[in-house]
Amino acid sequence: MTQHPETLALHAGWRRDPATGAVAVPIYQTSSFQFDSTEHAANLFALKELGNIYSRIMNPTLDALEQRLAALEGGAAALALASGQAASSYTVLNLARAGDNIVTSTDLYGGTWNLFANTLKDMGIEARFVDPSDPQGFARATDDRTRAYYAETLPNPKLIPFPIAEVAAIGRGFGIPLIMDNTAAPLLVRPFDHGAAVVMYSTTKYLGGHGTSIGGAVIDGGNFDWTAHPARQPALNTPDPSYHGAVWAEAAKPLGPIAYILKMRTTLLRDLGAAMSPFNAFLFLQGIETLPLRMREHSRNARAVADFLAKRTEVSRVIHPAHHTGMAAERSARYLPNGQGGLLGFEMAGGAPAGRAFIDALKLFYHVANIGDARSLAIHPASTTHSQLSEAEQKATGVTPGYVRLSIGLEHIDDILADLDQALRAAG
Ligand code: PLP
Repeated sequence: MTQHPETLALHAGWRRDPATGAVAVPIYQTSSFQFDSTEHAANLFALKELGNIYSRIMNPTLDALEQRLAALEGGAAALALASGQAASSYTVLNLARAGDNIVTSTDLYGGTWNLFANTLKDMGIEARFVDPSDPQGFARATDDRTRAYYAETLPNPKLIPFPIAEVAAIGRGFGIPLIMDNTAAPLLVRPFDHGAAVVMYSTTKYLGGHGTSIGGAVIDGGNFDWTAHPARQPALNTPDPSYHGAVWAEAAKPLGPIAYILKMRTTLLRDLGAAMSPFNAFLFLQGIETLPLRMREHSRNARAVADFLAKRTEVSRVIHPAHHTGMAAERSARYLPNGQGGLLGFEMAGGAPAGRAFIDALKLFYHVANIGDARSLAIHPASTTHSQLSEAEQKATGVTPGYVRLSIGLEHIDDILADLDQALRAAG
């Protein structure tokens, strides 16, 4: 039987340092690793033997983090990267080439939107944006050059869980993997349990938890048959000239169902080089030790805040998975039975001036463009993250002029509510 998340978060992927017996994962701050012999070196480069060569491609501190993430997620293997942006870029570039396309949910983090709408477009990869309220939109946007589907589990500002099972099933019919950005809901949702093939994280957020480090990760579910529709996935089914003609779906077989992540490590990380530093990997390992405890507490505090705000006259609407109605409420019940996470939004009845006044009046909450910190955070998207969009575009993404986004931390709930209360009074 596999162990529970609380146990895996402390133990998976590491027992002790083989050289010293150290229990905490050491920071292996080294660029390179001594080979035992010329034969050993040749075997490592030929992938006949797995082992450390150079820290751009692998490192023992990162290896412990990667094994821990794969275990927690129920996946086959993982790859740690320098940022969430690097992770989302690599998930797509691992499959799509110029002339190909992906179909993506419209409900995305702004940085991902820019990556898909502009940078990937400049590289010849088209992102087709579809509204996730209708899963069939993914099927309608698919053609012969569609290589992947992409979505966020719990996208803000709408905070409506994505229909993972429905869209994963549509994709599997075509031989198309569903890539899920699970940054906002680690442990609360395990996308592989619903049929997703790949999970990515900005580890900067809840996985780290302390707001100290930028990082990202990609996890291969090991649950997708890349050879079932070979013409659909040429990147894994045709010879790779950069690795002596290796066909990754075949080459990975002796190592396990890890073709996707093996290719990402041996080609994209080798060539584009967005490696996580061992020091940051160490900090993420510290954060993950308490992730199960923290996600419970974030969820509990955010739920209490949502219920508190729903009763306030200064507030016209609360956006939280437990306060949805209709289709959104059904999705929340299905995908978030173990807690709804630490994010919520609300609208000030007084519109944009009230939203700004509320933020300015906060004393305990930090005013920052981040989520998933142990501290409580707030931002007014209309005047910051979404200020470059027109009011109509802002509305389409779910941002109204009085919308305030909160990322609820781990402070005592009475102190969180006291700060919100005084800021609402000052702004209301
Ligand atoms: N995905 C989501 C859902 C995010 O919120 C973020 C950052 O805010 C990213 C990806 C990008 O991650 P990073 O800032 O670590 O590059």
